[in-house]
Amino acid sequence: MKRYRAAIFDLDGTLLNTLGDLCAAASAGLTAHGYPSITEEQTRLRVGNGIRNLILRSLPEDAGDSVIDACLSGFRSHYEAHLHDLTHPYEGIPALLHALRSQGVKIAVLSNKYDRAAKRLIEHFFPGLITLTLGERPGIPRKPDPTSTREVLAALGVRPEDTLYIGDSGVDMQTAKNAGLTAAGVTWGFRSREILLENGADLLADHPAQLLAHFADPARLQEGFTRCGFAFSYFETSSQAVDYLKNVCRGKTAAFGGSMTLETLGAYDALREGGTVHWHWRGDPPDTAPEVFLTSANALALTGEVVNLDGNCNRAAASMYGSDAVYFICGMNKLAPDLPSAVSRTRNIAAPRNARRLNRHTPCAADGRCHDCRSPERICRALAILLAPSSSVKHTEIVLVGETLGY
Ligand code: SF4
Repeated sequence: MKRYRAAIFDLDGTLLNTLGDLCAAASAGLTAHGYPSITEEQTRLRVGNGIRNLILRSLPEDAGDSVIDACLSGFRSHYEAHLHDLTHPYEGIPALLHALRSQGVKIAVLSNKYDRAAKRLIEHFFPGLITLTLGERPGIPRKPDPTSTREVLAALGVRPEDTLYIGDSGVDMQTAKNAGLTAAGVTWGFRSREILLENGADLLADHPAQLLAHFADPARLQEGFTRCGFAFSYFETSSQAVDYLKNVCRGKTAAFGGSMTLETLGAYDALREGGTVHWHWRGDPPDTAPEVFLTSANALALTGEVVNLDGNCNRAAASMYGSDAVYFICGMNKLAPDLPSAVSRTRNIAAPRNARRLNRHTPCAADGRCHDCRSPERICRALAILLAPSSSVKHTEIVLVGETLGY
């Protein structure tokens, strides 16, 4: 998996949900000059190309420059006084920014919001986390023109190919493309995934934790897990990881927990070459006391915790009791910045995808988000958080693979 050294974030709809304050300020500017206020939904559809365009799109077509300027002035007066009354970071964003800093990633923000407001918001919500913030400035063309993106790259001292551009709009995806950067679209903001893809998104993220895999440094990851008492190994490729596990299981009895990761790795057939493997997904009788138990995790927190949701609870139980050794095999996509993000990833990414795989009629299978349902078909009945290895297991190891594996 490609590892990026720098991140350029959009602001509105990507790091911060600013809709409430933008809507209030636009409505204040419009109503002060006799025009109707606008709704948050109208605001959502009209932002993205600078505040002037938000006002322009909210006025009658024949409104002249003097009217636009007057409403814009009203917007600014209100916005300067109410910049973050209703604004807040999206869930998981502060933890992601802290995690990126811990991985040595350079972070900048590039916005079409006017420069002073962009800088004030960053100082208020993310003090000390962002190296450079640039908003709209006189004489500098707005995004998607690549001028300001190149300015950021030069200031950070990074190359386009080492930088991931992250935003929620078609303008953002075009900006990345125009500057020669990889474009990551986030689906929690103001635009749909279809618009992001139509405008060139190279990858999509439905949860902030999903961005971490593109920046994480395996050498730095080890520290959090070993501090919590887990052994840790890292392999660039699936085949390297499987070769390692073949040696681990050679001449031993092993059992698998239900795992799309192990399925994708082809681990069952590979490990049976050298030992005895039991897997209920292949119809084998259960082995409740194998020498080695292998499974994956729904999330690995950088702070060192291993998180699993379980329905039958066999996987969660066997990862804590009954074996001499337990191995958690995980792709980079399972990383999360901290424990709350890991739990959120488990419920909002892993569980909905497993519910769909199992054809369950749960709310999360319909829209990809956990609704904490009480459905008789719910797949998550136990949330297992290993804060440290079980004291009844002699060896517990995290085997991280530098690829995307499982959910
Ligand atoms: S509690 Fe219900 S909605 Fe939430 S992840 Fe589990 S099955 Fe899905």
